[in-house]
Amino acid sequence: MAIERTFSIIKPDATKRNLTGAINAVIEKAGLRIVAQKRVKWSNAQAEAFYGVHKERPFFKDLVSFMISGPVVVQVLEGENAVAKYRDVMGATNPANAAPGTIRKEFAESIEANSVHGSDSADNAKIEIGQNFTDAEIVG
Ligand code: ADP
Ligand code: MG
Repeated sequence: MAIERTFSIIKPDATKRNLTGAINAVIEKAGLRIVAQKRVKWSNAQAEAFYGVHKERPFFKDLVSFMISGPVVVQVLEGENAVAKYRDVMGATNPANAAPGTIRKEFAESIEANSVHGSDSADNAKIEIGQNFTDAEIVG
């Protein structure tokens, strides 16, 4: 399996509770390298653009409000099979269904305030990384 990159967000529920380091420890322990990282506050337009794929879903408005309710830490993670591996490390969308040891099981508050985002495919990872980082900001 080739080395690949995925896009990650530590969401406002986690940054508010000072969990950035604890989540990064789980990421690194899983063998993923944080090759880019910055703490930012998204605008409404940025959050709407990022989650545009969900704009017809009933939770879209709430999700956008949540994602701009505090800082987020955006990251590029690198490693073998990084996209699928990070989905495993995150756990299920709803923390009630997440496996023990996953980030969402350990830290998430609810199906919405679920602490982390990870790309769902290699194609989306490329798009999401490009929306959030310049090439010069990613140092492998
Ligand atoms: P994932 O983040 O696991 O890929 P989705 O792409 O389906 O999940 O949803 C994007 C985000 O929208 C979720 O991480 C969560 O924050 C929020 N979300 C998903 N489903 C719901 C729901 N039923 N109610 C509220 N928020 C939701
Ligand atoms: Mg998703």
